[in-house]
Amino acid sequence: MDVGKPYKATPKAKLPPIEALLKTMLEEKLVDKVLGAKVDKDVTQVKPEAIDKAENVKDMNMPAYVAFNFSKMDSASKFLHKSMGGALNSKVGMFARPCDMRALVELHKRRQVNLDNLITIGIEEYGQVEQKSLKKYFTDKKIDPTKISSVRITSPEKVEMVIDGKSQVFPFDATLQICRNCSNCRNKLVRNADIKASFLSGDVILTPVTKKGLDAMEKAGKLLDYAESSFDGEALLKEMEAKGKAKQLQEIAEFRKKTPEQKMAALGSCTACGICIRACPVCFCVDCILMAKRKAKKIDQYTFQLSRIAHIADTCVQCGKCDSNCPKALPLNIYFNDIAMQLEEKYGYVSGRSIDDVPPRANVTDMRARYKRH
Ligand code: SF4
Ligand code: SF4
Ligand code: SF4
Repeated sequence: MDVGKPYKATPKAKLPPIEALLKTMLEEKLVDKVLGAKVDKDVTQVKPEAIDKAENVKDMNMPAYVAFNFSKMDSASKFLHKSMGGALNSKVGMFARPCDMRALVELHKRRQVNLDNLITIGIEEYGQVEQKSLKKYFTDKKIDPTKISSVRITSPEKVEMVIDGKSQVFPFDATLQICRNCSNCRNKLVRNADIKASFLSGDVILTPVTKKGLDAMEKAGKLLDYAESSFDGEALLKEMEAKGKAKQLQEIAEFRKKTPEQKMAALGSCTACGICIRACPVCFCVDCILMAKRKAKKIDQYTFQLSRIAHIADTCVQCGKCDSNCPKALPLNIYFNDIAMQLEEKYGYVSGRSIDDVPPRANVTDMRARYKRH
């Protein structure tokens, strides 16, 4: 087995590949805890959980996580930071979407997470199904989500679900959609992970990226059979990134035609409820001044939202969690995407791409020293 080579992973017993890797990490004491997943009410509601005993790692229904992400405001990066101490004082094994990996990089730079204490499995995926569209779709089609046992996005156009034991394929359309943020995602490649796990081909393809990742994969050989694979997930993702970027540039061009007054007006329905802050994986200030002012009713909705946008403009990793959770459906990601595109064009800076990239607004000398040390 070699670093950089993709392998098709097949379970020797019942435990699927990601679960087998996490279990092995605990059994072999490579980590103290792993970030797992459990299906809550139905497969569309997957919740993160911290697991410290190997016997508690069970089938987590990873394809459901790949299709739906963690439900509502949860994300792997947020959960690691908030509920697992950011792996600052313990070793953690976890899986993460590409935007989660970017959030971990930004949190590492700010000493909120220690990537050196993590063994990460970066998930290659098509994007997540939009939760709100899903509910309407199920109501319209009279589908009971508790009857769905498995789900898998098979291409950017289709999702396959097993309902009441019968496999059915549903095309994405005006009702059932991939998240808006995912359909114009221009950073889909898994970066900075120890292992890449691709769910794009129907098989689970694992690629060790670092020695740490290779070690975990080799040790998991007691639970998994590996066969060399020629599947190239990266080529497919690059194609999707190019399409996403073209879509995003078009959206930004339209946005830039708006007057400042129109851009402000679009934020007018914000109720300063704070859900976008709580959902954001890179919003971590303990004494959030915006939340305090909101509680004291000393801030209007425009100042609230503009301050937030300005505050985390170069930290935002474009995960879309704020946008998809906003009860007022404010198009928050267009504001962040516009700034992110400008940062890339002017400074070549992409948030979350590398721990060595210093955010353009940082004091370079101080920050270079600070960001690299833990
Ligand atoms: S925003 Fe991009 S990286 Fe994140 S879940 Fe969507 S497609 Fe994946
Ligand atoms: S933008 Fe949306 S989620 Fe954020 S505070 Fe305003 S209403 Fe709440
Ligand atoms: S601001 Fe929104 S899109 Fe950006 S990282 Fe936070 S939740 Fe994700």
